[in-house]
Order: sequence, then structure tokens, then C-alpha cells
Amino acid sequence: MSKKIVLTEAQIPRSYYNIVADLPFPPSPPLHPATREPLKPEDLAPIFPMALIEQEVSGQAEIPIPEPVMETYLLYRPTPLIRATVLEKALGTPARIYYKYEGVSPVGSHKANTALAQAYYNKMEGTKRLVTETGAGQWGTALSFACHKFGLECLVYMVKVSFHQKPYRKVMMQTYGATIHASPSETTEFGKKILSQDPDNPGSLGIAISEAIEVAANDPASKYSLGSVLNHVLLHQTVIGQETKEQLKLAGEKQPDVVIGCHGGGSNFAGLAFPFVRDKINGTDIDIIAAEPVSCPTLTRGKLDYDFGDTAGMTPLIRMYTLGHEFMPPSIHAGGLRYHGAAPLVSLLLENNLIRAEALPQLEVFQGAVLFAQTEGIIPAPESAHAVQMTIREALKAKEEGKEKVIVFNLSGHGLLDLSAYDDFLNNRLKDENAAAAS
Ligand SMILES: *Cc1c(COP(=O)(O)O)cnc(C)c1O
Repeated sequence: MSKKIVLTEAQIPRSYYNIVADLPFPPSPPLHPATREPLKPEDLAPIFPMALIEQEVSGQAEIPIPEPVMETYLLYRPTPLIRATVLEKALGTPARIYYKYEGVSPVGSHKANTALAQAYYNKMEGTKRLVTETGAGQWGTALSFACHKFGLECLVYMVKVSFHQKPYRKVMMQTYGATIHASPSETTEFGKKILSQDPDNPGSLGIAISEAIEVAANDPASKYSLGSVLNHVLLHQTVIGQETKEQLKLAGEKQPDVVIGCHGGGSNFAGLAFPFVRDKINGTDIDIIAAEPVSCPTLTRGKLDYDFGDTAGMTPLIRMYTLGHEFMPPSIHAGGLRYHGAAPLVSLLLENNLIRAEALPQLEVFQGAVLFAQTEGIIPAPESAHAVQMTIREALKAKEEGKEKVIVFNLSGHGLLDLSAYDDFLNNRLKDENAAAAS
């Protein structure tokens, strides 16, 4: 049997899957940051195009993928589903392990799936420039690429530590034509305020979001774009899980027993998992696991409450698992998992036990990543490595139980621009961070 399961273009899903249509319980509405009243769609109009606002509140199960977006997806979709036979053998597990490899996108991660859709919808409504934040740089890279594809300018606020630690992401964004500022910056009121209190502030995603929203809200030609957390972002990522279902069928698998994704804001996890959550709602027994870092344990140790998405408190209040919007996560290598909050839809599923979450320590995660690289050949992004190691744990559990399970995980990106993290691990410079508690 072939190791790699590839769909033809004709077999690619043509619509996004909206899980809200199938939820047995209603999502809680976002609240206006000032009045604490449920948000009206038009409240978001200064920063998002109407098409995305409509998707944000939509209850429609299938939302067609626009043809121009589909054309750009065909640059790298469908992505392969690969059976990890060499890893299986190394673990001596009876489990059959499959991974969906999103690292084949031009920017190296799943983030292109929503970046291309968001750039398209903005272009259709006359937006000239998209403003965003980026942590480790994957989102900024994806949006820079997407903006160039659809003829938009792109301005990226990049968390200052990453700006200095990850120069190659910056070069990628610049290659796609974007402008980058290290955040906190002197270009916004909020950035200036932070710098006046703390000139050496290393930045955080929350601060960078505040800066990007401030710029977008004050410029009629600009809109803001977010790479995770929000309903419309998760929606665009469901191409991943829908393709995976088709591929599993081609591989002769009826249904996975375990579905795993790493969790930062929730988008790659949701992208793979939501089409399977639909089956679970309809009665299929599937263990669906979100894997997060011990040092930023939003789902496992956060509180479920209304909180801001950013540090300044400019975003709507959303009901989610949160460590508090002023939480400053330690500088672990999985930069994309250092976010204080979680997608409200993922939070709702966790609250209702349709999924579960596990927190993994950094050293164990890198051990798993190295084993994966040595067996399957791909060097995982440090974020994706959380899904890899969670899979290894589950495969070893299947071995103990002597069970022939089918495990599917999302390899959300490659780690070829994160080799300094591997360098630190291989030279014993990595430590396990202390577990953080909700503030
Ligand atoms: C950004 C990123 C993540 C984390 O973001 P989610 O929205 O939780 O998916 C995970 N993996 C990779 C490769 C990323 O770039």
C-alpha cells in the first residue's frame, strides 16, 4: 500500500464546513468592549469586510469556496495524507498513524488557507491594505503572500523578540512585498505607551494585535486581519479535515479513533478536527485531542470566561478559555502557541466534552520531534511537534493496551526556519518551563 494518499483536484472539497450549524448548544455572542452588550455585526465593519463578518456569525453548514481562492489553493492543495509507517515501526505500536501535511504550502504552514481567503474577500470589498500581527512570523508570512496574490499592501507588527530571533521570516515577508515593524513600536499610540513604561519590552501577540487594530481602525483604506481564534478563520481551515476524511476513505480506513492537533489559537486543530467533531456529535466514538505547551496552558489551566483578545482591551470580549489578557507567556520556541486565549468554538467544544486537551512539556516535545524527523524525514515546526509528541504518547498507549487504533494528526508546518530551536535542543540549552497558572 502506498504511504502517501493524494486526492485528485476533482476530489477536493469545494466548500468550507461551518460547525456552528451542527452544534447542539449555541455559541455565546461576543460582547462590545465598552458596553458589554452583545456585539452587532456592524460594530466590526471598521476592521473587517462584511463577507468575513457574515461568516463570523453564520449558521450555514456549507459555505462555498470562491473560485479565485480555489485557484490559489491549487498551488499546494490537496495536501498529502501520509501513513507514518517508519515511526510506527520505531515505536513498535499496533496503531496506524497518519499525518496531514500542511507544510507543503508555499509559506510552510496551514496559515495560507485562511490568509488567501481573507485577502480575497478584502480585495472584493475595496480594501487597499491589510494590517496584522505575527508572533514567530508564520502568520505574517502567510498574509504577506496572500496580499501579494490579490494585489493588496500588507503591514505586519511582529513581536519584537521574534523580530530579532527569527530574521528569515522577516526576509520572507519582505520578499512577498510586506512592510514589517517590530512590536511594541513607535508607530502607534499603544506601542508608544508600552515603550514609555518599559523601553525593553520584548512584545507579545496581545500587544502586537493592539497595534495592528489601532492602525486599521484609523485608516479607512486598511482593514485588520487575524490568523487564528475567530470563527471565520477556523472555518477556512476546515479544508484540512474534509480532505483528510476523503483520504482516509481512500486508505481503506472507516473512521479514526484518535484525532490530534496542536493548539495555539485553535485554527489548525479546528481545521482538522471539526469535520470529525461533526461525526462525534452524530454518535461516532472519536477521541479528539488538542495539544498545548505546559508553559502556555490555556485549555488545560485557563478559566472559561469573557476576555479580550488583545492586551490593550480593544477587541470585543469573547467567551473562551483564557490565562488573562495581560498574561505574558515565557519565550518558548513554539512561538505560535504563545497566546493567552483560545478560539471560542474550541472552548465551547471542550466545555461540552466533545474534545479534550493535554499540556506537554517542551523537552518531551522536542524529543518526539527529533524521533519524527529521524523516522519520517520531515522536521516539524515546534508548534506541530506538540501534535507529533501527543501522537507518540497515544501510539505507545495503544501498544500497552494491544489495540489497533487509527490515529490522525495535523502536521501544521515544517520547522526549516526554526532550526535554532533544534540547535538549542540538540546542544542541551533547552529547559522545561514551569507550568503557568491562570492569572
Ligand atoms: C501559527 C501556527 C500554529 C498555531 O496556531 P493555531 O491557530 O492554533 O493553529 C500551529 N502550527 C503552525 C505551523 C503555525 O504556524
